[in-house]
Amino acid sequence: MTAGKKIRRKDKPLGPIPSGFETIDGELAIGGKTASALVAEAGRTPLFVYSKAQLDARIAALRTAMPKRLGINYAVKANPFAPVINHMAPLVDGFDIASAGELAMAQAAGLDPARVSFAGPGKRDDELEAAVRASVTLNCESEGEARRTFAIAERIGVTPKMAIRVNPEFELRGSGMKMGGGAKPFGLDTNRVPALAREIIAAGAEYRGLHIFTGSQSLDTEALIETQGNVLNLADKLSGEIGVNCPKLNMGGGFGIPYFSGDEPIDLERIGASLEQRFASLPDSLNETDLCIELGRFLVGQSGVYLTKVIDRKISHDAVYLITDGGLHHQLAASGNFGTVVRRNYPVAVANRFGVQANQGAVLEEVNVVGCLCTPLDRLADKALLPHADVGDIIAVFCAGAYGASASPASFLGQGPAGEILA
Ligand SMILES: *Cc1c(COP(=O)(O)O)cnc(C)c1O
Repeated sequence: MTAGKKIRRKDKPLGPIPSGFETIDGELAIGGKTASALVAEAGRTPLFVYSKAQLDARIAALRTAMPKRLGINYAVKANPFAPVINHMAPLVDGFDIASAGELAMAQAAGLDPARVSFAGPGKRDDELEAAVRASVTLNCESEGEARRTFAIAERIGVTPKMAIRVNPEFELRGSGMKMGGGAKPFGLDTNRVPALAREIIAAGAEYRGLHIFTGSQSLDTEALIETQGNVLNLADKLSGEIGVNCPKLNMGGGFGIPYFSGDEPIDLERIGASLEQRFASLPDSLNETDLCIELGRFLVGQSGVYLTKVIDRKISHDAVYLITDGGLHHQLAASGNFGTVVRRNYPVAVANRFGVQANQGAVLEEVNVVGCLCTPLDRLADKALLPHADVGDIIAVFCAGAYGASASPASFLGQGPAGEILA
């Protein structure tokens, strides 16, 4: 060994493991089954496991904190796995969909079309027709889309249900992905909303009100409260200009979940209390309005765990690499390549040594958990302190319930999709 500069490594913290996961026989367990039993049952890794108990607990917590009057919609794009959709159907008040594909999923789950609304900036004619035929509410994103809908509805002889998606001048502060404020492909600029609403009504369509979505993945409780206030004010102002009370207002969502070290959960009780206060003195235009929020990630994100097997353990320049059979093709976000600027570690554990990891004073080693793809982007945990793991052990990546399986490039390098189960 040569004297001189010694490379100093410093471990990087892992994100917080969501509460509510059990340990059985020292292993991570979901739905009463250990990780290795779940892998054996599925007959494979990599595997996404979604916890029914976590989904139920999340919705129960929201129901307790939010005003009774507030509907809770599930934004299907966060996790369109059919058993998850079926499990969510009776628990939420509606589904928000973003394509004809998701419409088919909502229909397969037997959802009442009156509980489904369809947003998305590029709806094709065949998608508009499917939505009008199914009698779901279209959240119109432009005048052009609205007029295509009138023509389709006329041709097939069905009265369309149409709301307007608004591109507000404000945005959700602290939001991971900004989807409102300034020039955007989403929704109609506020000054053009009244004219289109009047056109919808004049065309004989059923006017279903407004949809105001301002951003995603915010952990800033105050910003969420402020935005909800702004949304109610804007809906009132626009309804005044339209001259019709608002039948339905989708207030957007944006509730975030903690992924990284230092992230704190949002304060649901404060958000609920402040909404309750606003609802107690709503203006006439919103008094009879069907009010809802739409959440994806917040409902399903923490319910999911991605399990991947260590297939090699090697040392390079003193650094330990655990090479797994999973990777960014299923977990693009955990690899730091989906909507983040600086890569940070998700919560990660050695699933079959979960009990050890939870112990204070456990002996841990610094490792890099990587996927099996031939790209340096394929990292699941960098310089993470984990219990010793070797070939055959199972790595768990938490917070994998939203934008995982369906929002990652599964066919990259010919890998194909991961398994998925609801436990
Ligand atoms: C993506 C999206 C959602 C869901 O966002 P989450 O951050 O997962 O809650 C809700 N509404 C619209 C319009 C969206 O595009």
